[in-house]
Amino acid sequence: MNKTVQINQSVPVKYKVDVCVAGGGPAGVAAAVSAARNGAKVFIGESCGCFGGLGTCGLVPAFCGVGNGKRFLGGSICRKVFDIMQIPSGELEREFSFIDVEKLKCTYDKMIIASNVQYAFEVKMIAVNTENGVVKNAIFADGSDSGLFAVEAKVFIDCTGNGDLAVRAGADYTQGNAKGIPMPSSLCSLWNNVDWDEYKKANVNLFQLLLQAIDDGVFKEPDWHHSGMFPVGNSLAGGNFSHAFGIRANEHQDTSAAWMDLRRKLEEFQYFYNKYVPGFSNAELCMSASLLGVRECRRIIGDYIMTIDDFNARRRFDDEIGQFAYPVDIHPLDATKGEFERFQREFYGNLRYKDGECYGIPYRILIPAKLHNVLTAGRCVSTDQHMAASIRVMPGCFLTGEAAGCAAAMASATANGEVRNISIPVLQNKLGISN
Ligand SMILES: Cc1cc2nc3c(=O)[nH]c(=O)nc-3n(C[C@H](O)[C@H](O)[C@H](O)COP(=O)(O)OP(=O)(O)OC[C@H]3O[C@@H](n4cnc5c(N)ncnc54)[C@H](O)[C@@H]3O)c2cc1C
Repeated sequence: MNKTVQINQSVPVKYKVDVCVAGGGPAGVAAAVSAARNGAKVFIGESCGCFGGLGTCGLVPAFCGVGNGKRFLGGSICRKVFDIMQIPSGELEREFSFIDVEKLKCTYDKMIIASNVQYAFEVKMIAVNTENGVVKNAIFADGSDSGLFAVEAKVFIDCTGNGDLAVRAGADYTQGNAKGIPMPSSLCSLWNNVDWDEYKKANVNLFQLLLQAIDDGVFKEPDWHHSGMFPVGNSLAGGNFSHAFGIRANEHQDTSAAWMDLRRKLEEFQYFYNKYVPGFSNAELCMSASLLGVRECRRIIGDYIMTIDDFNARRRFDDEIGQFAYPVDIHPLDATKGEFERFQREFYGNLRYKDGECYGIPYRILIPAKLHNVLTAGRCVSTDQHMAASIRVMPGCFLTGEAAGCAAAMASATANGEVRNISIPVLQNKLGISN
């Protein structure tokens, strides 16, 4: 239907700050704390009731890719999160660091409070007023009384994951691969009554058990890719599996269908774990996540677009704001065996670095090409799908968030808030980057 209606109302300005951050996932928290640390007055608005995004409301059970086997790459805010969470240093190098979700929520609360950041939960950024590429204010819908309010700032940081703010301000974006196919979405979950000792003792090959269940017809649609269950407590497991393919997370018809599809698939997985997997015979599904597991939505077109060529070349940049090394992790794009085999070849083979290797992240991928006082951080930064599939994990989002916050604070101290006019060596120095 093409019919439209107009709304015309005055909106009160509730916050007037130097830096406004929309979205409070790992990128948003890092951006807000970093901007405040660098002297800015900051507001952060988050549409859920806690910070952390997919790592909390999304029940993603682990941080991964925080190091390259030789060195911690997550940046100083990621380090702070790990220190408060008391994640043991032996786990910092390469693969997974498991998440106690309530502890992570409180960790982010403490960091925001300690930084004197003004914050609001259950508020969604829904519009911006922009003049000639300069955002003047952002409009938030307030879930508590269904009113609207405005935030005036000199610089805005889009940490919505989906690029909501930058697109409303006029930025261009891409989605998916060359054919427009996005990475699939998932619905993470929390399970109780797991006997991890029994599971470890049994030393089973989970993939073989999955193949057996597929042969036995347990699943309506076979899906060979299965990240698995992760120990997030003594008898608790965090589930990260099942896919909804081809979901455009900025289309509510797509996401609404995905929620139901993925909830139904969890019932099948409950049967699989109870009947096939040692240690899980009494496992109960406590809850599925309250945020859909969106791996990829819009990627904002920036002053530079990082591509697979940069990954393959281990490219370094004069304006880099960090280094990263997580493999290219494009989950199968459909349920075929061919796509599963493509994923395995890339993730475990040719698109994974050796210990000690890394690529640089240029500041320019945080700057939306058409805008002057806006930065992006997290999974909507300017990349192709391959690079997004590496940089999207939470330590990568902390890195871009920390850099965006620092750069925004610097730009907000200038006359016009232009994010291209800051000194890159000073930014790098503040971030502790040595080129
Ligand atoms: C199923 C799944 C499994 C994953 N597994 C891992 C893993 O094992 N390890 C790992 O490190 N990473 C993993 N990731 C990747 C990682 O969790 C995300 O890419 C990362 O959380 C992205 O961070 P972000 O801050 O950019 O966005 P998000 O985490 O998506 O946070 C965005 C925040 O913005 C809020 N928001 C959105 N729109 C608005 C708006 N308009 N106004 C106000 N607020 C808004 C949202 O509520 C949310 O809190 C996984 C992702 C998925 C989907």
